[in-house]
Amino acid sequence: MNKLIEKLKKEHLLTREELIELLKDDSINEELYKAADEVRDKTLGNEVHLRGLIEFTNICKRNCMYCGLRRDNKIIKRYRLTEEEILDFAEKAVSYGYRTLVLQGGEDPYFTVERLVPLIKKIKALGVAITLSIGERSLEEYKAFKEAGADRFLLRIETTDKELYEKLDPGMSHENRKQCLRDLRTAGYEVGSGALVGLPGQTIESLADDLLYFKELDADMLGIGPFIPNEETPLKDCKTGDFHLALKMMALIRLLLPDINIPATTAMETLDKNGRTIALQCGANVVMPNVTEGEYRALYKLYPGKICIGDTPAHCRGCVTGKIRAINRVVSDGYGFRDNGSGPKKRDENGKRVE
Ligand code: SF4
Repeated sequence: MNKLIEKLKKEHLLTREELIELLKDDSINEELYKAADEVRDKTLGNEVHLRGLIEFTNICKRNCMYCGLRRDNKIIKRYRLTEEEILDFAEKAVSYGYRTLVLQGGEDPYFTVERLVPLIKKIKALGVAITLSIGERSLEEYKAFKEAGADRFLLRIETTDKELYEKLDPGMSHENRKQCLRDLRTAGYEVGSGALVGLPGQTIESLADDLLYFKELDADMLGIGPFIPNEETPLKDCKTGDFHLALKMMALIRLLLPDINIPATTAMETLDKNGRTIALQCGANVVMPNVTEGEYRALYKLYPGKICIGDTPAHCRGCVTGKIRAINRVVSDGYGFRDNGSGPKKRDENGKRVE
């Protein structure tokens, strides 16, 4: 076995130079994927956690260059679900057996604490774990959502290259992004982050920095998405991210952080028709089927070629379950917290997990 992969499998840590060496060497890909799959199996077993995704608003005040929801995109038809619609989708998702619901949206100022807190409480009363993916907020807001019943929060760093981040996310501060991730920890969430792979101007060196940042953050969930240029954004003519580089990042994350939750992302399946199945066999243990209904699925267009936009939530549930069973894995009936317990693990004042 490649010495670095062997070391990573045993120690779950490599230096920046060693990570760069693995990221640059494509001759080790199959070995790396196999090692990540073995570590996933040994640490977490064969369960796959399903998270039902409700895309509740495609309105966003930000202007990220790579994203179809950016505010300067005047072509996209905007929508904002009503509380009744969100609750209806949530109830249906629970009836399909989902134990976690993810509320995802652009940074939509309409959804204030006053509006979101009662909604979170009503969804929580359905007996599910709740993940929020609603962008940058203040510590007070994060605390209010947590108190209302939210358990997890996804906030991708996208890239740890500060200069690149601030160029691609105009008006946003990389330092504030990192502060938000610290605040989420302070507020007691299971913290999810992640990166886009293949952004124009991104280097292999910066991908290695992303990996070390995730390790230092001790993130509880990490999602990797290949960059897919959207024709309604300024990056429309840029090159699509490499599927295998994204897969390698995901496999390396599994080896660095053996017990965390890693989704097989839909963006992977946009680039390869078996993308999510492949990802599940290279370290991933989570799938996030869409439980939003109707035309909203197509309107939440972060990138083109998004899969399953014409399907119903019932169809997606069956399809994903079939894919999971076909590779001899099982759908978990638990909440899928990092520690397999009933909630986020306690942390000390430095963010380190305590027994
Ligand atoms: S990436 Fe997020 S914050 Fe940026 S424009 Fe898209 S939805 Fe808004």
